Amino acid sequence: LIQLYAPLNFLGMVYREIKQALTDMEKMFSLLEQNEEVQDRPGAVALSTQAATIRFENVDFGYDAKRQILHMVDFDIPAGHTVAVVGSSGAGKSTLSRLLFRFYDVSGGRLSINGIDVRDYTQESLRAHIGIVPQDTVLFNDTIYYNIAYGRPGASREEVVEAARSAHILDFIERLPDGWETEVGERGLKLSGGEKQRVAIARTILKNPPILVFDEATSALDSKTEKSIQAELAAIAEHRTTLVIAHRLSTIVDADQILVMDHGRVVERGTHRQLIEQGGMYARMWALQQQSEIEAA
Ligand code: ADP
Ligand code: MG
Repeated sequence: LIQLYAPLNFLGMVYREIKQALTDMEKMFSLLEQNEEVQDRPGAVALSTQAATIRFENVDFGYDAKRQILHMVDFDIPAGHTVAVVGSSGAGKSTLSRLLFRFYDVSGGRLSINGIDVRDYTQESLRAHIGIVPQDTVLFNDTIYYNIAYGRPGASREEVVEAARSAHILDFIERLPDGWETEVGERGLKLSGGEKQRVAIARTILKNPPILVFDEATSALDSKTEKSIQAELAAIAEHRTTLVIAHRLSTIVDADQILVMDHGRVVERGTHRQLIEQGGMYARMWALQQQSEIEAA
């Protein structure tokens, strides 16, 4: 039995390593795939602006032809404004940010920036204008310095440190035994969800783009850290075109417009006050979250 045990244990180890390698490969393929689906048009122009107005015009979309996800989604974000999107999980909120970044193209309707279809911009220039703090941040198997500096190649060390400070991750980094040289990612130090979110926020602060997308960007932070970082995010969002996908409604009460999505459709829209007065889905979500915050306190 003992003789059998050792090789089995060895096989277990090999199995785990293969599984990890396959997971990495899957990630790589999904990145390649996303880039392959979308191509630059001949004659695509470079987007170059500090003031971007985004328009979703009756956008339909499905990841595959069999299942439509978005139905006639229609809204715009004037340059410098903030639009927040709320709704239950699976409503299609993150899909909006994937279309904006052009991981996919719309299947009906039109998505434009400053009046030009995003399909007519070069992907490189489009993506250079957008900073996304995603729901799940993927870290590179490299140092934490590399992972933040990646936000803007060519940034100075001081700028990287300042970005980390604004994202409330500087103290954490400086307390690590290897500091900025700490290896993170699959094969290094595993960061918590909240730490990864703050790395992504630091990257985006460093990138300093005219368009911002926060996709439940602070959902993994405890509510105290979230509150302190929220002021920082609001300051960066000022004068920028911002799409906020919100987890906690208390973070978006000041948005210029709030969209409520349900099953791929915008079912309510307005300011926080207007939506509360309407007494619809948003008002019910607000009441529920207020209740659970009182219970948690
Ligand atoms: P939300 O962010 O509102 O939770 P998503 O926009 O991520 O929702 O997803 C909307 C719908 O699209 C969900 O039903 C989800 O299962 C589906 N979906 C998301 N990503 C993919 C994908 N890559 N392939 C197929 N379906 C997807
Ligand atoms: Mg989502």
